[in-house]
Amino acid sequence: MNSQKPRLIIHGGASSLDDKGGLSQVRDCLHEIVNQVYTSLLAGLSAKEAVVLGCELLENEPRFNSGTGSVLQSDGQVRMSASLMDGTRGRFSGVINVSWLKNPIYLANALQDSDDRVLSDYGAAHLARELQIPIYDPATDFRIAEWMEERKDNFQSKMARLYADPEARRGTIGVVALDDQGNIAAGTSTGGKGLEKIGRVSDSATPAGNYANRNAGVSCTGVGEDIIEECFAAKVVIRKSDGLSLIEAMQRSMQEALSNNRDLGAIALDNTGTIVWGKTSEILLAAYHNGKEIGDTLEWVGDAQQLSGFCQ
Ligand code: ASP
Repeated sequence: MNSQKPRLIIHGGASSLDDKGGLSQVRDCLHEIVNQVYTSLLAGLSAKEAVVLGCELLENEPRFNSGTGSVLQSDGQVRMSASLMDGTRGRFSGVINVSWLKNPIYLANALQDSDDRVLSDYGAAHLARELQIPIYDPATDFRIAEWMEERKDNFQSKMARLYADPEARRGTIGVVALDDQGNIAAGTSTGGKGLEKIGRVSDSATPAGNYANRNAGVSCTGVGEDIIEECFAAKVVIRKSDGLSLIEAMQRSMQEALSNNRDLGAIALDNTGTIVWGKTSEILLAAYHNGKEIGDTLEWVGDAQQLSGFCQ
């Protein structure tokens, strides 16, 4: 068995810092979660277990758009989507538009060994009952007030001011981990883009938004339709598997996304321990542990020339 230093990268979406308490609060929050999950990886947690733990901690953080604090859809309901991919097994599982529970990532994890691995609303709710997961209302007062505001204006916004808006308080979450045995896993969880039509399917529980194999793992954030049309996460992982470096794979895929006017961001790592991030969006709220120290992308704003960054 090979034994290497674990690596970890997490994100809290591609939306503004300003109303999440500002740079230092978001930094403290993301670094604390990186620290906790990385410590668990050092203590022997597998990549998949670390991803579930990281997603759970981020889902529980109301400033991000997943689990508690998820945005409301057009009818005022919270519907969440999450997925988990174990790169070693090549196994993808997830839930789409599930309501009334705290941690959608638990359901995605529970489906890893099922014959039917992606469940939508009714089936996901049924599974939650089967697993005796308690009923929980993830809507926060802030999200309800925000929806009421939109209602006054007869829902003119296309989505809940998700991107490049100083008032935005959102951000899908994602985690990609490499454990000391060389296993890679990726997880992504979201409340969606906000104000969407009932039944709209997010990228987060598809291989476009979350993908991993033995070579690399990727989690995306941004406009789900853009991510799906680029098939972004799977594309980066496959490019790396076909011989590009992860850095080249991310840069080339971001370049294509930019020329197609996409609004998205992504985090990634590979089996050599390289950590990579990229965005066409204004900002990407990511933090990582490279085996030596914690770093983040929080001050990397704008800059359409430079679409990706990395550390080894
Ligand atoms: N990708 C998510 C969606 O479109 C939203 C986000 O990442 O902020 O459902």
